[in-house]
Amino acid sequence: MRRRVARNVSFLGVLAVVVTVGAAAPSSSVPPPVPPKSPVAVGYGGAVASVDADATAAGIEVLRNGGNAVDAAVATAAALGVTEPYSAGLGGGGYFVYYNARTHRVETIDGRETAPRTADSSLFLEDGKPLAFADAVTSGLSVGTPGTPATWATALDTWGSKPLSGVLKPAERLARDGFVVDDTFRSQTEGNQARFADFPDTAKLFLPGGQLPVVGSLFKNPDLARTYEKVGREGIDELYRGELADDVVRAVRKPPVAPGASRVVRPGDLTAKDLRSYRALRRSPTKVGYRGLDVYGMAPSSSGGTSVGEALNILASTDLSRASEVQYLHRYIEASRIAFADRGRWVGDPAFEDVPTSGLLSRRFADSRECLIKDDAVLTSPLAPGDPRHPADCADRGTAAPTTYEGENTTHLTAADKWGNVVAYTLTIEQTGGSAITVPGRGYLLNNELTDFSFAPADPAVHDPNLPGPGKRPRSSISPTVVLKHGRPVLALGSPGGATIITTVLQSLIGTVDRGLPLVDAIAAPRASQRNSPTTELEPELWNSPLRSQLESLGHAFKLNPEIGAATGVQRLPDGRWLAAAEKVRRGGGSAMVVKPSGRP
Ligand code: GLU
Repeated sequence: MRRRVARNVSFLGVLAVVVTVGAAAPSSSVPPPVPPKSPVAVGYGGAVASVDADATAAGIEVLRNGGNAVDAAVATAAALGVTEPYSAGLGGGGYFVYYNARTHRVETIDGRETAPRTADSSLFLEDGKPLAFADAVTSGLSVGTPGTPATWATALDTWGSKPLSGVLKPAERLARDGFVVDDTFRSQTEGNQARFADFPDTAKLFLPGGQLPVVGSLFKNPDLARTYEKVGREGIDELYRGELADDVVRAVRKPPVAPGASRVVRPGDLTAKDLRSYRALRRSPTKVGYRGLDVYGMAPSSSGGTSVGEALNILASTDLSRASEVQYLHRYIEASRIAFADRGRWVGDPAFEDVPTSGLLSRRFADSRECLIKDDAVLTSPLAPGDPRHPADCADRGTAAPTTYEGENTTHLTAADKWGNVVAYTLTIEQTGGSAITVPGRGYLLNNELTDFSFAPADPAVHDPNLPGPGKRPRSSISPTVVLKHGRPVLALGSPGGATIITTVLQSLIGTVDRGLPLVDAIAAPRASQRNSPTTELEPELWNSPLRSQLESLGHAFKLNPEIGAATGVQRLPDGRWLAAAEKVRRGGGSAMVVKPSGRP
């Protein structure tokens, strides 16, 4: 997400201002040069797209060394833990969607964080009232058992071809040798400065000498390099039952706050037993047919697959390729509104809630909801949910509930290999900077994912499937998506952005499939996001376009959102080449690379 200059150029260029952060770490390895950052790349041998050139390069390095897409995805994710430490890392969770070229099947891993065994629906209540959101974020209460390490282990053990230690090497090297600080890294640190300063371990790492990292300086994280090295040597279990696990439990139960800090940092109740019993879960993907394609996504505990799938089912009855731009956007906005109404009522952790996943994805249900949409009028939000178990045309059921807030800064990567395997993987620590609690001496931040739970039901009379519970996974919006045609992958993508993830993935999909946009342009297209609220968010290019008043005349109301999401994807071109695509502009532009850009197999 940060603007970064190619290291082979910048490394010499920044020597005059290089500041070494953290303890000096001896290093014998010379970092390989990183090619200039590009939002699109085409070629053979495999592809990787992420928000960050160093991270994408880590995945490409693993592919070049004979690794497969799963190995490359874990390598890229581990590197993002170094260069995007406020978005993702060992202290967080995520969802991994994998197309297996050997079996032609799509499989997934739910690596969502879990609440402590002692949690109940009052987790975020004090004296019967919900805590202030910011107070809950910066606390041990919001920290769930991390799922990212178990996701990596599960993915590598099941489908990978390289040992964990090898796959972590590029990230370990990046942490030890450093990466170049850019504007976004500095400004994200600045946005967190006050709370980081209250945690000595976080301040030591991210506010060296009490200062913000200097743009152009090298940022090193030797603690994280050692953690990766240890985990590579001793295995992921170290993070769930070894001394690394003990460190996590201690930090959550007694957050290491600076003496004299006035901030009230509530402890959490995570125990060694919570960590020991954590499992990343292999789940069947969601699947819907759309225009002759099969669209696979992430099943609950994420609401991504059911919401994107339901919206696609609703849109399927309209020929969007021929629709005017206004009708195209109108239909997309209304389908999103309906999908969010149903998501709010029905989706939560399926281990605790009776989630009607197949009903939400059924054509019959979509038809019963599509009939609400009019060409010349706009639905009112909050819209009440339908009943996927007993679909009735144009009927709703129960009370409308607003969509709750989710942090908007995780990260998505997409990887493909020469065998045709594909990974779409979104990982997160929730807010930018997570809980602000760094595991002392280990070089990474702990998540605040549990604030994705509802703190209290929007309407006490209506069941909320997303209240906290013991060992429960908070509902996510993460939507890694893989699209097949006749059993072969044609497209894979995903995005960060909290609840806007769902609309970003949906809009990018229909932009490519229905409007015929090249993937990189579908990703770059200005976004609208409707999440069952009275106003729809628009990015500036749509806000400033005549389309806005045309949509307003239908009854739409809008508010400006400067930037929505940061998608990446890969596409299989008809000639067999891979195309990797990332953002052209958002968050400083993303990084797409292929193994052999020369165009030869
Ligand atoms: N916590 C969010 C979710 O799981 C993701 C945060 C983000 O996308 O930035 O849905």
